[in-house]
Amino acid sequence: MRKKFVAGNWKMHKTTAEALAFAASFKSLYRDAGVEVCVCAPFTQLAALKEAFADSGVKLGAQNVHFEEKGAYTGEISVGMLREIGVDYTIVGHSERREYFAETDETVNKKLHKLYEHGILPILCVGETLAQRDAGEAESVVAAQLTKGLAGLGAVQIGLLVIAYEPIWAIGTGRTAGPAQAQEMCAFIRKAVASLYDADAANKLRVQYGGSVKPDNAAEILGKPDVDGALVGGASLLAEDLLKIIESGGQK
Ligand code: PEP
Repeated sequence: MRKKFVAGNWKMHKTTAEALAFAASFKSLYRDAGVEVCVCAPFTQLAALKEAFADSGVKLGAQNVHFEEKGAYTGEISVGMLREIGVDYTIVGHSERREYFAETDETVNKKLHKLYEHGILPILCVGETLAQRDAGEAESVVAAQLTKGLAGLGAVQIGLLVIAYEPIWAIGTGRTAGPAQAQEMCAFIRKAVASLYDADAANKLRVQYGGSVKPDNAAEILGKPDVDGALVGGASLLAEDLLKIIESGGQK
C-alpha cells in the first residue's frame, strides 16, 4: 500500500523569519494523518527548517540541485551540501526550471543519478503544456520525459521515486486538471514506468498530482486510486491551507 505524500513547494517565497513562523504555526496544528509530509523550501531556509521541524515527522526538501559533485559552478548547490543539512527530497525538473533555467531531460537524468548516489530522494516533475494537451500529445510528451529522465536507473531506485504529474497549464493558474484527468494521467505514468521497468517498481513508486491544488479541491483529487499525493505550490505558503490538504489525503 502506497503512503500518500503531500509536498509543499514554496518556490522563491519566505525569508528565514517567515519560514520559522510557518514552522511554528504548522507544528502547533499538525496531527499525523498517515500522510507523508515534506516542505520544499529555498536553499537559504533549509538549515533553519531542519532544526525547526526536528522530531515533527515533517520531511525537508530542496527545489533544485546541480548534477556535479563539486567544481566551478558559481551559484550552484551540490547534493553533498544538501545531504549535510539533512535534506530528504529534492524537486527535479519543475516546469519553471525547464522554462526559465534551461533544465532539460538530460540534466534531469544526471540529477536523479547524483541524488540517488547520495541517498536523497527525487521528486521528478513531468507535464505537458496546454498546446500539447490540445494537440492530443499529453501522453507522448510525458512518456518522452519519463524515458529520457529515468534512463539508466534501476528498479529499486524507481520503486523509491516520486513523480509529480504537473500539467503546466494548471500551475499557479487556479485552473486544475479535473480529478478524472489527474487520475488518468497518474495511471498512465504508472503504466509507462511499468513498461520501461517492471510492474513491481511501478506499483511502488508514488505519483503526485500538482497544479492549483487547494483545500477545497484536494479531497477529490487525492481520493483517486493512482493519485498518491500532491505537490502544492501557492497553497503551501499558509500553514492552515497545507494542513487542510494533508488532512484531505488522510481521509481515504
Ligand atoms: C508547483 O509549483 O509545483 C505547483 C503545483 O504550484 P501551484 O500549486 O501554485 O499551482
